Amino acid sequence: MMIEQDIFKCSNCGYEMDENYIGCPECKAFGTIKFLKRVKVGPCQCADCVAKDKQRAKHFNHPFYQTVKENVEKFRMSQIEKGAETYPEPFNPDSWTEEQLYEHSMQELADAQNYNTGMLDRMIKQRKEIERLNKENENQLHYINSARKDYSKAITTIDELQAKVRALEAKVCTLENEEDYLQQIRVNQGKKIIEMRERINELEGIEL
Ligand SMILES: [Zn+2]
Ligand SMILES: [Zn+2]
Repeated sequence: MMIEQDIFKCSNCGYEMDENYIGCPECKAFGTIKFLKRVKVGPCQCADCVAKDKQRAKHFNHPFYQTVKENVEKFRMSQIEKGAETYPEPFNPDSWTEEQLYEHSMQELADAQNYNTGMLDRMIKQRKEIERLNKENENQLHYINSARKDYSKAITTIDELQAKVRALEAKVCTLENEEDYLQQIRVNQGKKIIEMRERINELEGIEL
């Protein structure tokens, strides 16, 4: 909302003021102040009016309306262009009969109704296709997630099996060491047996 202000004028000296004084502040005459005009001095700054202005600006500055305006202008110009090529004179409703104006307008409306209905059909078709694709994406996501779970399970199993293999290899190593040790004992015992046999032979060879 705009704030309005009353302006008064002294009929004696012509001095203009924004208050209805009893006496003129300029020429000091009494009873000479008369209403002159009402002027707008600026937008109201109360919270309510500021909020309303902001809301209004949001709508007027919306880029969508700018796009609509540009498109409307583009088609308006191209229609004039077409008219210039087809008709010798610019459009003048006076050179058409009422019936001609009515018929032409009805024909354009019928075309527009066909286009509007066609656009609705196509939008519904496209929305359904988008919904179908979204559903398909969702299913594939589920499949990917479950495949991921299977994969991480398989990885865990492989890790466990590798740990088991390492444990078995360690055991084999231990057993091999033990075998070496036993072999050593066997060799030593063999040597001792030979020594003992030789000793027996020696003892048997001594004549009592
Ligand atoms: Zn005055
Ligand atoms: Zn206000």
